[in-house]
Amino acid sequence: MNYISTRDKKTYFDFKSIFLRGLASDGGLFLPEKLRKYSKDDLQRLSKLNYFDLASEIISNFSEPFLKKDKIKSIIEKAYVNFDTKDVVKLNKINGVNLLELYHGPTLAFKDIAMQVIGLIFDEIDLNKKKINIVVATSGDTGSAAIAALKEKKDINLFILHPYKKISDIQRKIMTTCVSSNIFNIAVKGNFDDCQKIVKQMFNDEKFREKINMSGVNSINWARIVCQIVYYFYAYFKMQSKINFAVPTGNFGDVYAGFVAKKMGLPINKLIVATNNNDILFRVINSGEYKPLKVKPSLSPSMDIQVASNFERLLFHIFKEDDKKVKISMQKLSDEGFFKLEKDELNILQNDFEAERVDDSETLRIIKDFFVNYGFILDPHTATAVGASYKIKNESKTVILGTAHPFKFLDTIKLAIGKKIEPPKKFLGLTEKVEKFEILDNNLVELKKFILDKI
Ligand SMILES: *Cc1c(COP(=O)(O)O)cnc(C)c1O
Repeated sequence: MNYISTRDKKTYFDFKSIFLRGLASDGGLFLPEKLRKYSKDDLQRLSKLNYFDLASEIISNFSEPFLKKDKIKSIIEKAYVNFDTKDVVKLNKINGVNLLELYHGPTLAFKDIAMQVIGLIFDEIDLNKKKINIVVATSGDTGSAAIAALKEKKDINLFILHPYKKISDIQRKIMTTCVSSNIFNIAVKGNFDDCQKIVKQMFNDEKFREKINMSGVNSINWARIVCQIVYYFYAYFKMQSKINFAVPTGNFGDVYAGFVAKKMGLPINKLIVATNNNDILFRVINSGEYKPLKVKPSLSPSMDIQVASNFERLLFHIFKEDDKKVKISMQKLSDEGFFKLEKDELNILQNDFEAERVDDSETLRIIKDFFVNYGFILDPHTATAVGASYKIKNESKTVILGTAHPFKFLDTIKLAIGKKIEPPKKFLGLTEKVEKFEILDNNLVELKKFILDKI
């Protein structure tokens, strides 16, 4: 499989190089040159596979010839041994609500599903005894998933930038109580967009990137998207009818994976983007204007994002694969702070996507009602997607992606239902553990210095 950049479709890359680089040197995001399209008969065949075989089938489309299907199969089997549900994910039907629980991995959020696989892909790469330094920005859940996947790896250091005081206590503790000499937690005095910007700047600084042999595992890494495509297929096969998916959205990675599944032939009606008050995606999908505003802290912190990086991949599609046009729009975004889609481009976008905004008070009410009526506790991110699904008016059934376990947002749950929830067994005693992290200014030079000092 050949890969291109959203800003240059003439230069080809292979899977291994895009896996290690994450971001193209022109600032664009990597995309496969073309997608495999499954026919109805193919889908019939895939519907009989278990999650592991389904994942091997889908992921190997993107990783061959570097990682062949058998290799992927052995990686998948290893990656998901610690998940506490048999099929990795679980479609739960709660009074007519179809909830796809994606949080049965080691750190209680859907990020584990891709990150566990990525951790094992690193083992397949011959590093020539050169240490890799991974720098990653997290809005709360990517960091812990990366730690769980990469701790104790001899040839890898992991630097995690989280926004200081802007993630939940439990999210932070899961990251900062991990004892492993290759893990460095950094709280940046800024928001997630600041953290993400710093990582992108480091990637685009060729000299620095080479000096530290830098790699990335943020949601712009194509391998993450690929692993997330699998559960859209899984859910469709369980539902056996054309469906909508409602997806709690921040950086546009998870819902974009659903879009790729649709392009590969999966009968998806609408992909419903749920946002909190950080509603850039709600605004662009409804009006065509892509304009980041100031980040506002919310009860669903993993979605407190205004620069939804993966949206650039969708732009490439909306612009009918015109790489120049993507480049011009991204330049306008950086110069003037916004760009706007033409009417026909907006139509293309709205053909596949709808968006709804769910604010904090609505989120709290949904968590409470769900608990009172069905005895089931939603996490605040998942609750935004439940809220969005209530507003959808088309005929198709909807599957809601459950992106995190409520324990990660203990205080919000207490606010909503008036009581504390018990930690899952693997996190008993977490709140008493000692934390280790550095607090640094939102400053590229200082962060580079910190990393250079540690390696
Ligand atoms: C990361 C995250 C999201 C947002 O996913 P994106 O791929 O960034 O859109 C939503 N909910 C939770 C719990 C998350 O951790």
